[in-house]
Amino acid sequence: MAEAQIIDGKAFAARLREKIAACVAALKRDHGLVPSLSVVLVGEDQASQVYVRNKGRQTEEAGMISATHRLPAETPEGELLDLIGTLNGDETIHGILVQLPLPDRIDEAKVIAAIDPAKDVDGFHTTNVGRLWTGLDAPVPCTPQGCLLMLKETLGELKGKRALVLGRSNIVGKPMAALLLAEHCTVTIAHSRTEDLPERCREADILIAAVGRPEMVRGDWIKPGAAVIDVGINRVEAPEKGDGKTRLVGDVAFDEAKRVAGFITPVPGGVGPMTIANLLRNTVIAACRQNGLPDPWYKRR
Ligand code: NDP
Repeated sequence: MAEAQIIDGKAFAARLREKIAACVAALKRDHGLVPSLSVVLVGEDQASQVYVRNKGRQTEEAGMISATHRLPAETPEGELLDLIGTLNGDETIHGILVQLPLPDRIDEAKVIAAIDPAKDVDGFHTTNVGRLWTGLDAPVPCTPQGCLLMLKETLGELKGKRALVLGRSNIVGKPMAALLLAEHCTVTIAHSRTEDLPERCREADILIAAVGRPEMVRGDWIKPGAAVIDVGINRVEAPEKGDGKTRLVGDVAFDEAKRVAGFITPVPGGVGPMTIANLLRNTVIAACRQNGLPDPWYKRR
């Protein structure tokens, strides 16, 4: 059997960013509107710092306004909530993102609930979660939206396909399942208590792995010809690169899986780049809605 076709998330994301930049230029030209995103980062988490830097850079490269609010790890919860209140009330700011995870002492749910749902470009506010599950228009969480866009462009119609989402987090697994359901897939959500997991995976035409366990999904868990989307980002030791070196791997054993799957995303270079591109897209949509303009992607969703 031929090896799987690689789904090139970097290329997908570059094309999406081009469309976003064109859209931003048109908004500026025709309406004098410049979409603006404010990112709030609390603490010194290394990975979060890198994500936030990349988000800011790509927002500006697309022609939008980016602001980052860096708060010390010991910032009281009330101060963070006050900042969110100020950003909510500022008409020139269209999107607000609080980088997760937050320090343990801060109540994540309370912080997400404080963001104006219209500015919630992560799509994590319970109002937007409810809207997504009930089929109403809402900002869609960026990572699952990226997975869906790649699947639709690669496979075309998803109707009737059996999809298995491995992982049930609020930021990936659950919204991913909602999106696939809306595409008329038959969806199974698997998790740490699922029985016969390899067998359940082998039934899937579409397998989304979002567990955070390095290379857990083996080649013989995959239905021949299936589309495999690997959301996992795991840093593992890489002695072959030298002492103390590390490398990134996904939740899928890529070398085994590509011999069985029909389509597969690599790690890195798969889902990751699409996440930020969708954040920019959500910011543009939020800016349009807040200014009474149509969602530029409405018909294409
Ligand atoms: P969470 O830790 O919140 O959720 C993991 C899920 O996997 C849980 O539902 C858990 O089940 C399930 N799980 C854990 N171990 C097993 C197991 N042995 N068997 C079956 N299910 C298991 O993770 P996230 O959803 O936040 O992230 C998942 C992965 O995706 C991580 O590697 C993360 O780094 C990556 N990620 C990548 C992004 C990107 O842009 N590419 C963005 C966001 C995340 P249970 O609920 O029963 O505990």
